[in-house]
Amino acid sequence: MTPSRRHPARRRTATLATVPVAVAALLGAAGPAAPGGTGGPGAGDPYFPLSGNGGYHVRHYGLTLRYDTASRRLDATAVLTARATQRLTRFDLDLSGLTVTAVTVDHRAAAFRRQGQELVVTPRRAPRAGQRFRVEVAYHGTPKPVTDPDGSPDGWIPTDDGAFVAGEPQGAMTWFPADNHPKDKAAYDFTITVPQGRTAVANGVLLGQRTAHGRTTFRWRETRPMAAYLATATIGTFRTERYTTPDGIQVYNAVDPREAHAAAPVLKRLPSVLKWESALFGPYPFRAAGAIVDHAPDVGYALETQSRPLYDSAPGLDTLVHESAHQWFGDSVSLTSWKDIWLNEGFATYAEWLYTEQHGGDSAQHTFDTLYARPAGDSLWAYPPGDPGSGARIFGTPVYARGAMALHELRRAVGDRDFFRVLRAWATTHRGGHGTTAQFVRLAEEKSGKQLKGLFHTWLYTSGKPDSA
Ligand SMILES: [Zn+2]
Repeated sequence: MTPSRRHPARRRTATLATVPVAVAALLGAAGPAAPGGTGGPGAGDPYFPLSGNGGYHVRHYGLTLRYDTASRRLDATAVLTARATQRLTRFDLDLSGLTVTAVTVDHRAAAFRRQGQELVVTPRRAPRAGQRFRVEVAYHGTPKPVTDPDGSPDGWIPTDDGAFVAGEPQGAMTWFPADNHPKDKAAYDFTITVPQGRTAVANGVLLGQRTAHGRTTFRWRETRPMAAYLATATIGTFRTERYTTPDGIQVYNAVDPREAHAAAPVLKRLPSVLKWESALFGPYPFRAAGAIVDHAPDVGYALETQSRPLYDSAPGLDTLVHESAHQWFGDSVSLTSWKDIWLNEGFATYAEWLYTEQHGGDSAQHTFDTLYARPAGDSLWAYPPGDPGSGARIFGTPVYARGAMALHELRRAVGDRDFFRVLRAWATTHRGGHGTTAQFVRLAEEKSGKQLKGLFHTWLYTSGKPDSA
């Protein structure tokens, strides 16, 4: 994610917020081993205790959406194919707002109830541990974004010609029932019907589009594992463009005509940015690429939606580089806990520094020095990036800038050759899966043969302005 350059302060004005005590208390019941055959309401994340669920993993989401841009009504069906990790007499999905009309499990009607963001399902026959099962949810209503702990909106955000759909960290549940935590990644198929003249853009490859009776249906497929927050179904009046890069990546761009003039020169650079990043980080992790450039002046950020980042306005080149780098760091290699968010944002920010350095701009050292010159009372040093302390702080300056500074300190400690070996090994070893900070530290020590725990402790976990080596 990047705060939009048009609204530089919006995403950064994180206020202090703590997890409500009642919600934190649920943590005890969260996790995959809740008693009595019930899955439990959370995935055990300390910052978002109700995000995700226990007791199963989703393999595939099949989402069929019909959206009326005038009335803003969504009519939808979600089919989840999942595998139980325990016997499930009851399990939860995350869904915020909307009206559920029917739930089936393995084609049998199931009992369900709503409890806050939890959709609690009681199947007629409990799936056994290890068993594959199918859940179908029919629902409708007017989707509304959720407000993040830092005050910004995410999820299904209506625009004047459709919807800007960006789910980090919680918003996927505003438009489909999900196991809404990056721990659980799945493949996706989308079938999205919108009024003729509007375009619906999701992740992955466009399989086809068909117009009948004044409506157009778009079918999209993402086969590589994807966290729910990286799914999109952005709708608007878009100019579209398709081509294949020399490396065989299928590019699909969708641009709001109001942003087209400003976006064109930057989007032209996408193939060369991906090629440059592939040279540094290893092969591009997905089949498809592209950009969705919307005109959504109230949003205030861009998001690295998988295979096709979403911009609230024409991006600058630095933002394009940032969201593209997330395809390796965040999308392909995913978090297991939001606390580790610097693994996404520190890395994408450092990719911007590297791009600048290798394209005739300031060296990364210069960027580091400029930041390091900030006085001890500066907000950059307000909290350590490896342990931001709450969900309200995960998109704050320390996570982005000091996270990138931590990587630069690593680079200085091990030298360029080993540093770039580490970055590449990280993206390769955990490709399509997950990684934790502890695993990254271990990998850096392995590849460099150096003791680095002290360095990471200083830069990721120590309060206040760290001493620089
Ligand atoms: Zn980012």
